[in-house]
Amino acid sequence: MRFAGMTIFVTGGAGFIGSAVIRHLLADTSARVINIDKLTYAANLASLPGAASHPRYAFEKQCICDGAGLRRLFDLYTPDAVMNLAAESHVDRSIDGPAEFVQTNVLGTFTLLQEALRYWRTLPPANRARFRFLHISTDEVFGSLGAEGLFTEETAYAPNSPYSASKASSDHLVRAWRETYELPTLLTNCSNNYGPYQFPEKLIPHMIIRGLANESLPVYGDGKNVRDWLYVEDHAKALTLVLERGSVGETYNVGGSSERSNLEVVECICDELDRIAPASDPRRSLVTFVKDRPGHDRRYAIDVGKIERELGWHAEEDFTSGLVKTVRWFCGNREWWKDILNRGYQHARIGLG
Ligand code: NAD
Repeated sequence: MRFAGMTIFVTGGAGFIGSAVIRHLLADTSARVINIDKLTYAANLASLPGAASHPRYAFEKQCICDGAGLRRLFDLYTPDAVMNLAAESHVDRSIDGPAEFVQTNVLGTFTLLQEALRYWRTLPPANRARFRFLHISTDEVFGSLGAEGLFTEETAYAPNSPYSASKASSDHLVRAWRETYELPTLLTNCSNNYGPYQFPEKLIPHMIIRGLANESLPVYGDGKNVRDWLYVEDHAKALTLVLERGSVGETYNVGGSSERSNLEVVECICDELDRIAPASDPRRSLVTFVKDRPGHDRRYAIDVGKIERELGWHAEEDFTSGLVKTVRWFCGNREWWKDILNRGYQHARIGLG
């Protein structure tokens, strides 16, 4: 069985992608999983049904900016790997409040690297050779593409938002800790994810929830910004594969090879909602165009050749199958997102600079 006898730290495990990684690790591998999460507004332990009583799972409420707290956890659990998914992740929020992004994404990653290095140096040689630090990042670090071309692992960094700049900084720290201190790090840069348990502020859940209530569907700018959408469970599987088989010091791009404009995404959601829960008028009539996000990157698209060739990973869902699953999940799991709305989260337009 994969990861037999191994303990894996998953930071940000109460978030959208981290929880998918933990569900996958518990269901499909033998790893012991320690979820390290500060529980910000974006966290939700209800995204880990059954985990609390699972014999191979533990939760630690812990900020990755707190070195002493992290040190205690390294000493207590003696992990074989760290998967770093703890982050501030919403571009619009980063425009209004960049400090939190620098704090967690840059200083938090720095602190985690320092504590991982301190711990790694104390390990016996065999454990030291086996240890891995996998940092999870975004394709947004590469900036914006024109109508043609794909991001590869060789694309130069050109981040445009406070969010992507903070992620780019953390990627550089991870690389430097490998080059300078030989900490065995790996890095992934992934395109936009979607799927079950995504926080309602992100495009796809936001539109599903508004569409279900027959509310207007606000699309930024002309709706022609293109993203390369990846179903979150495919991302989770890519990450465990990189951890297991990736070469130390390497970067792997991960994407869904499913380019869609924002307007196309919203129209697909409308059509699926019309099929599941017909309304008096087609949902497409609810689309409205609103002021664009400042610095809104036009197009992201990923060349997944390296991870497919070298690690044998392939996305199992295409955009249509993944979106149908996602819309159905949000329709069938209303308590999950209604609890978030009831906690006081209200989506107001932010990030206009
Ligand atoms: P998320 O916002 O859903 O979850 C982030 C989690 O990190 C939350 O549970 C939060 O409580 C936790 N966290 C935040 N600050 C922390 C801190 N200081 N200490 C400990 N925990 C903290 O984010 P996500 O969408 O799951 O993204 C996870 C990672 O994947 C991020 O690094 C993000 O940059 C990257 N990524 C996301 C996408 C995407 O489409 N969502 C795509 C590519 C890469």
